[in-house]
Parts: sequence; C-alpha cells; structure tokens
Amino acid sequence: MIHYNPQKRQLFRSLANIEGTSVRPPWAVSEYEFVSKCSSCNKCLDVCNESIIVLDSRLQPVIDFEKGECTFCGDCADVCESGAIDPLLNSLPWSHKVSFSDKCLSDNNSYCRSCGEVCGQEAIFFKLESGAIARPQLDLNLCNGCGACVSICPTKAIEIFVTSEEVA
Ligand code: SF4
Ligand code: SF4
Ligand code: SF4
Repeated sequence: MIHYNPQKRQLFRSLANIEGTSVRPPWAVSEYEFVSKCSSCNKCLDVCNESIIVLDSRLQPVIDFEKGECTFCGDCADVCESGAIDPLLNSLPWSHKVSFSDKCLSDNNSYCRSCGEVCGQEAIFFKLESGAIARPQLDLNLCNGCGACVSICPTKAIEIFVTSEEVA
C-alpha cells in the first residue's frame, strides 16, 4: 500500500501551479497532441451526463471537478472523432490524484469526514492521533482521480496533482 506523504509533495506537480495546464477528459492523448487534434466540436461536453466538461480559453475541453465527478462512463471517448480522446492508446484514464491542503477542517481542530464518505474507492482514510482531530490520508494505489471528493469539501481543501514515477 502506498500512502500519501506530505514530505514528498515536491515530487508532485500541482496542476493549480502550472499555468495553462488543466485536466483533459479521461483517456486524452498527451497535452501536446491534444491541442492539435481536438477540433473543439463540443461533442464531449454535450454527452457528459455529469456536466463536468467545460471549455478552456482555447475552447477545448477540460474537466471541472467543482461541478462533480467522473464516472468513467466512456461517453466522451465514444463521441470523439478527432483522436484527442483515445482509450485504445491509454489504458488508464489519467494520472492525477488528490491531496489535502492545510485548509482541511482537521487542521483547525474541526471534525469532518465528508471526503472519505463520498470516495467510492475507499482511498481516503483517517489516521487517529491522540489529542488531535484525525486528518484525511490518501492511498495512492486506490485513488482513481474521479474527483468525487473535490466538490464535497466545505473548505475547498482538496487539490488535484499529477503523480511522478517516484511515489513512495
Ligand atoms: S467518462 Fe463520462 S463522466 Fe467522465 S468526463 Fe467522460 S462523459 Fe463525463
Ligand atoms: S472534506 Fe475537506 S475539510 Fe473535510 S476532511 Fe476532507 S479535506 Fe478535510
Ligand atoms: S479522487 Fe475519487 S478515488 Fe480519489 S480520493 Fe477522491 S473520491 Fe476517492
């Protein structure tokens, strides 16, 4: 089991800190290929039942986890005719995970388990420590990046990050 270690955060690139980088729909090709292949047809936006696909400044699709979670239904991939979303090339839908910032209520000695309760992967667990409120921890192996925990967090403490090969 691999657990998220805050001291290893330098191994991860926070998407929020990379100008112009966003989460593309699941099974998207590399960012370099995506921007040239995507024709901005908007078919993936129209077909997404979760309504989590929005347009970036180039009018190309990105995921907005503040709107909800990805169910990995595959509908966006099915309608994409440009080759920008291709499950045949990518067996994994994407490589990002989540992390918990110091805005988490537990850092202010307040009880909250909302993120753990919505995680269908049971990737979030709470480590009890004497004299302190249990803080959420992430099992990187179980998290599939669905984003269900992001919008539920009352303090917007959950961030998306891209994993490196060196997670340990
Ligand atoms: S896989 Fe389904 S839920 Fe996820 S972004 Fe595509 S259409 Fe939306
Ligand atoms: S939902 Fe947000 S505030 Fe609540 S435990 Fe999870 S990260 Fe902390
Ligand atoms: S992104 Fe999905 S799988 Fe990962 S911790 Fe959040 S709810 Fe669980």
